Amino acid sequence: MPRVGVLALQGDVREHVAMLERLGADVVRVRRPEEFAAVDGLVIPGGESSVIDKLTRIFSLAEPIREAIGRGMPMFGTCAGLIMLADRLVDAIDGQQTFGGLDVTVRRNAFGRQVDSFEGQVQVPALGEDPVHAAFIRGPVVEKVGPDATVLAALDDGSVVAVEQGSLLGISFHPEISGESRFHERFLRRVAAQG
Ligand code: GLN
Repeated sequence: MPRVGVLALQGDVREHVAMLERLGADVVRVRRPEEFAAVDGLVIPGGESSVIDKLTRIFSLAEPIREAIGRGMPMFGTCAGLIMLADRLVDAIDGQQTFGGLDVTVRRNAFGRQVDSFEGQVQVPALGEDPVHAAFIRGPVVEKVGPDATVLAALDDGSVVAVEQGSLLGISFHPEISGESRFHERFLRRVAAQG
């Protein structure tokens, strides 16, 4: 079984750990570089991207994570995690940094106030015919997709909410709280394939 980490500095860590364990993975909560060094893939949870950015720098995880992305380590980011994997941000706070890796421009808090949180069915052809039940919680939207990234899903209005590039997967919503396991399975298959 692949050993995977969930970045556990802030955000909805527990839901990801539970989902990955249910799928049979050996899961490590990553808070320190030594813990990160022991995993073959990383999930970056939802939360607040500016806080995750600051904490990963304070705890000396930002550089090792960037290096691992450069080496092709599989990573899966949901919501704030997608923001952390984006090469470019719109509406970032002053000085906010990302790990990068996905050739996309992501807008934080992209949905209007009244609809900043909602649930809906999203078609994700790469995961099969059954739509994904997705929970959006102050989620980002992918505004521009560069030539190196692939769109996996868009809403009816065209907003891109799931992208993939090499071994990186980033989505705007939270499958871990709606019991949708196919993204985590896709991530784990990629980790296993690289092992
Ligand atoms: N709005 C948050 C951010 O900018 C993301 C919200 C989430 O992860 N649920 O980081």
